[in-house]
Amino acid sequence: MFKLTALPASYGDCLWIEYGAEDNPNVILVDAGPSAPKALISRLEQLAARGGHLELVVVTHVDRDHIGGMLKLLEKDFYGAAVRDFWFNGFRHLSKLEAFGEKQGERLTGLLLEKKVAWNAVIKNAGLMVTPEFCPSFDLPGGATITLLSPDAEQLERLRINWVKVCGEADLYADVPAETEYFGKDGLDAFGATAPLNIPALAGQPFTEDSGEANGSSIAFVIEYEGKRVLLGADAYPSRILKSLAKIDEKLPFRFDLVKVPHHGSENNVSKEFVEALDCKKYLFSSNGANYQHPTQSAVARVIQHAPQSELLFNYKSPYSEIWDDRLLKTMHEYTTSYGADDGISISF
Ligand SMILES: [Zn+2]
Repeated sequence: MFKLTALPASYGDCLWIEYGAEDNPNVILVDAGPSAPKALISRLEQLAARGGHLELVVVTHVDRDHIGGMLKLLEKDFYGAAVRDFWFNGFRHLSKLEAFGEKQGERLTGLLLEKKVAWNAVIKNAGLMVTPEFCPSFDLPGGATITLLSPDAEQLERLRINWVKVCGEADLYADVPAETEYFGKDGLDAFGATAPLNIPALAGQPFTEDSGEANGSSIAFVIEYEGKRVLLGADAYPSRILKSLAKIDEKLPFRFDLVKVPHHGSENNVSKEFVEALDCKKYLFSSNGANYQHPTQSAVARVIQHAPQSELLFNYKSPYSEIWDDRLLKTMHEYTTSYGADDGISISF
């Protein structure tokens, strides 16, 4: 079996990936949302109860909506589930000369050291990154393979220079306050209108690529198992992902069974070129729309416009995802939609 579940993690990501034997699959956890969702905790408790372990845990980058829940999981020792390797590019991986994180109380680094978690063990505690010539691949126990697509050295250097600012923005120095969720007022009001969405016009809006340091440092990768391929875009830049795909694949378009759309479907992370380069029929958008109103209309429209006859998968039904569940739009533009329930949305391959 090979299955990915996008758990309900508010405006963040929390992906639970299983592969291998149906009754005792290998498990990978990618991010834990801003505060670990209940559905994740119960899965970890069940995993621990049957004596299972997490093959791999990945924190894609230091933004709150990916790292916040991971602090809680580390404090609780993953609710009894052992962790074989933990991928995270901390400050020590960004610079050979300086050691910053733990001294300054950056909490994730402190917890990883305190709990003696295997950290980037797959590459002997070095930084996880691609080079202009090479995208490293790692074979995981149980037969899955991961190939890195992002970040590169330049993006890690930008993160290093901005480390103090970025960690401050992610609340990594303080106790994490209770989670507040709200839909941006402007965003909600925008949906009072009933004018039909003009997909070609939305798709054709000018594209400006994301330039956030933390997003650029995202660990994005391809995971493959028994011939099935899934692209997990984290919050990475689409141009970085395309450059890496060109290194690992012979020719365009790049075939995938599922694409987790970068940055929750932000208009700055889904370009026409990105979608056109993919041969994929399933696109996953993970966010409830809180705080950042993701996914953005133009990003979803670019997928509909440039990946014909595709299925849009949303882990939440929110004002920002529900607008695509429109019979007329779906008929006109030949796409389908699926929405998650209390336990998120699962896709089997
Ligand atoms: Zn994010």
